[in-house]
Amino acid sequence: MANLILILGDQLSHQLSALEGADKDNDRVVMAEVHDEASYTNHHKKKLIYIFSAMRHFARELKQEGWHVHYQRYHPDNPEKSLEAVVSKLAAEYKPERLITTECGEWRLHSQISQWHEHLGIPVEIRPDTRFACRKQEFADWAKGRKQLRMEFFYREMRKKTGLLMTPEGKPEGGQWNFDSDNRKKWSGKPPAPAPFRVEPDSVTREVIQLVEEYFPDHFGTSEDFHFAVTADQAQAALEHFIDFALPCFGDYQDALSDHEDWLFHSILSPYLNTGLLDPTDVCQAVAQAWYSGRAPLNAVEGFIRQIIGWREFVRGIYWLLMPGYAKENRLNNQRSLPWFYWTGETKMRCMHKAIDATARNAYAHHIQRLMVTGNFALLAGIHPEEICDWYLAVYIDAFDWVELPNTLGMVMHADGGYLGSKPYAASGKYIQRMSDHCQNCHYRVQDATGEKACPFNALYWHFIDRHRDDFANNPRMAMMYRNWDKQPDERRRAILSRGEWLLANLEEL
Ligand SMILES: Cc1cc2nc3c(=O)[nH]c(=O)nc-3n(C[C@H](O)[C@H](O)[C@H](O)COP(=O)(O)OP(=O)(O)OC[C@H]3O[C@@H](n4cnc5c(N)ncnc54)[C@H](O)[C@@H]3O)c2cc1C
Ligand code: SF4
Repeated sequence: MANLILILGDQLSHQLSALEGADKDNDRVVMAEVHDEASYTNHHKKKLIYIFSAMRHFARELKQEGWHVHYQRYHPDNPEKSLEAVVSKLAAEYKPERLITTECGEWRLHSQISQWHEHLGIPVEIRPDTRFACRKQEFADWAKGRKQLRMEFFYREMRKKTGLLMTPEGKPEGGQWNFDSDNRKKWSGKPPAPAPFRVEPDSVTREVIQLVEEYFPDHFGTSEDFHFAVTADQAQAALEHFIDFALPCFGDYQDALSDHEDWLFHSILSPYLNTGLLDPTDVCQAVAQAWYSGRAPLNAVEGFIRQIIGWREFVRGIYWLLMPGYAKENRLNNQRSLPWFYWTGETKMRCMHKAIDATARNAYAHHIQRLMVTGNFALLAGIHPEEICDWYLAVYIDAFDWVELPNTLGMVMHADGGYLGSKPYAASGKYIQRMSDHCQNCHYRVQDATGEKACPFNALYWHFIDRHRDDFANNPRMAMMYRNWDKQPDERRRAILSRGEWLLANLEEL
């Protein structure tokens, strides 16, 4: 008897475990654009366009390969508003033997799907997602008994396991595991950053753009100038574009920020990796090959591979290890609301304006904008983790709960008490000045901590250090900050704290 095979919007891989061993003639693939998934947060318009268009292209490819595909297009009047409703209707119609799916990337939906068998009256087979280098159980085994989890050690295990950048003798290529110290250059405009890879929207994408404009007009961001890849072939071309034009400088300028360039030397591959258009191992192998063939330096190639088999796998492991409690963590007891300028970009802080404006236009900001600008500000300002997590989940094209949540709640907000990072990435304006050219165009003065025009990051940074003394004073990696703070004259400390208090009470004015 036939099975129903459910494929979700971030599972657009022909090698998906749910499709393994399936019978093309009899089984039926189900894909659906449903209200509940499109509306559980204020998804950026470009994120909705990307996912719907990539789904439609994937369904078309499946049909061309001879699969029977039931595809539900989004319409607000569709009676089936949830995936469960779609699947229930089809189960009643086709009476399949079972529903087969690949485990999804989000606790919310995972807990729902795990209960479906009770309502559907058929077994629901949830298969492991094999598109990661590290299985969930493997990560849990690695984490067992460790007081703190450190990405660097996990990453070395993944290097050994995958063989990426390993010599035949089992040593790391170049004699080091990590070349991060080479990857902290400021970018002064040279060498010029390559234009991002572009795909002009075809008729399928244009139809989806209209749909999103019609039914999601109030969602964040703009649909203008949509140019992301929406098929695996196009995503492969995006990977080749990255290797040819950006990878050689990826390492050097990985931490840089620019007032003029949105994308710098980043790969812009996260949407494709997270939805299955690209396979992470294939991507890493192609990038490693660029080093072996002399097309890119080792600091760039190692740095890039570490982001994928290191950070990406590590945050996923943490997510599944600690959910659902993880999402509720707030160890620094932050209670402030997210300032409205996160949605409008209307702030006099140049670095924040630039990062939010790029986010609204592109549904993308690179890692350092997310971590050291918008994230750093939320940390220093004591924003409630749930509010800032919801913002990151909404505004980025690559945002899926399993990867967004640990990055925001753990890496940025330190709300998990240091499980993911050994110290908070808190920084004053000095860091942003060192890594960017924003400050010279800013209303505020980066060299000042007090006074009306003083850079808000400065007083907020010291206020953060001061108010969290109990949380961090004993952390050896923070000791120097406390020594610097404690040696300031009392009067100066009082003035900075008072400016910090004013800023915290007037966040919306900044
Ligand atoms: C607050 C915050 C929220 C984030 N939310 C997301 C998110 O929702 N989805 C997401 O994919 N990434 C997220 N990241 C990680 C990272 O910022 C993005 O993966 C990266 O900016 C994507 O752009 P890129 O493809 O050009 O990356 P590149 O800089 O070119 O890096 C290459 C790849 O490495 C991976 N990678 C790099 N850093 C990380 C990381 N910290 N965690 C996981 N993977 C990483 C990505 O797959 C990325 O495509 C977040 C980071 C922060 C600080
Ligand atoms: S002065 Fe402060 S607020 Fe302005 S760009 Fe520099 S770091 Fe950002």
